[in-house]
Amino acid sequence: MEKLAIEGGKPVREKKINYGRQSVDEEDILAVVNVLRSDYLTMGPTIPAFEQAVAEYVGARHAVAVNSGTAALHAAAHAAGIGPGDEVIVPILTFVASSNCVIYQGGTPVFVDVLPDTLNIDPADVERKITSRTKAIVAVDYTGLPCDYQSLRSLAEKHHLLIIEDAAHALGARYQERKVGSLSELTTFSFHPVKHITTGEGGMIITDDKDMATRMRNFRSQGVDLDFRARTEKTSWFYEVVDLGYNYRLPDLGAALGLRQMQKLDAWLARRREIAGCYTAAFAGMPEVIPPASPSGCESAWHLYLLRLDLELLSVGVGRADIFKALHAEGLGVNVHYIPVPWHPYYQQLGYGKGHWPVGERAYEQMVSIPIFPAMTNQDIEDVITAVKKVVHAYRK
Ligand SMILES: *Cc1c(COP(=O)(O)O)cnc(C)c1O
Repeated sequence: MEKLAIEGGKPVREKKINYGRQSVDEEDILAVVNVLRSDYLTMGPTIPAFEQAVAEYVGARHAVAVNSGTAALHAAAHAAGIGPGDEVIVPILTFVASSNCVIYQGGTPVFVDVLPDTLNIDPADVERKITSRTKAIVAVDYTGLPCDYQSLRSLAEKHHLLIIEDAAHALGARYQERKVGSLSELTTFSFHPVKHITTGEGGMIITDDKDMATRMRNFRSQGVDLDFRARTEKTSWFYEVVDLGYNYRLPDLGAALGLRQMQKLDAWLARRREIAGCYTAAFAGMPEVIPPASPSGCESAWHLYLLRLDLELLSVGVGRADIFKALHAEGLGVNVHYIPVPWHPYYQQLGYGKGHWPVGERAYEQMVSIPIFPAMTNQDIEDVITAVKKVVHAYRK
């Protein structure tokens, strides 16, 4: 067998391929340049145009653009009325922003475990952790696969909880024929460069609730009830600060880029599905690789492809860290999504810790995110498959 690059062999790729990457073409660049030449670099007409494009795409009434997915979650937590004394249920396998938004509002995250197949929030564990203080559930469509909303919805109705859907991974995903964005009271997206579409940095909250949309619009701009452009149009200087707010405004430069990117989203989603299909087919004959779940009625947006390893079938003493390093040496810019949130030192300081969520904590030890993004060439896909096979074969029992 070929010598691993980590042991001095020839790497599969000379040029490293990252786990995710944006696609930006000349027309995208022109759209941004046109904004630079226009009157409004921020809070101009491109913002509502971008908001409308996303709202229409997902099939919801209102969209509020902000300058990150984190800001979107913060605004959603604010609109949900989360405050001191409130508990909010959050899965352990997610980006820390999913639970930080609860803390920003003075609430308390309550972490729950995930399901062994999808690695999405486990409704049975949610039910066990509901108390009289529980106000909301943050449901994360992990890797792009929608959660079990039928179960979550019935729990939410029974216990009068709001669902905040962190769909940073799931723009364009479907659950029982409905697009993500039309499933929950509040849905948040991120437009970071590795996500489905990008605005550089950016995010958006989607809702059908007019009052919540208004609260979030105010929240993104100092709690001011009339923005500068609306005042200019009315020839008025008058505005009122009606709430505590922040500066979470997305510049028009980003919105112009995002608006252009929306036109390509469906083609990009199709390419992501294709890449995922190639991987799953290529690894099907390898017992060491646990294939991703594909529950019926769910169409993933494939933000991430997790290479999940059955560690029992690897040589004694070999763990995810060895596989991770070996894949990097072969030229794959792999990553890990995510370290369980309650494990982080800041969260430990708050009283959380390790060892309470057996499924998610075990899954964390098994996972490596391999490259998946629309601009990958067929050769790139082949290289990833070759590198994974090479490394797994070298470390199998
Ligand atoms: C990317 C991401 C966010 C938000 O990220 P920003 O970098 O603030 O745009 C939130 N939750 C999850 C699960 C994410 O992956």
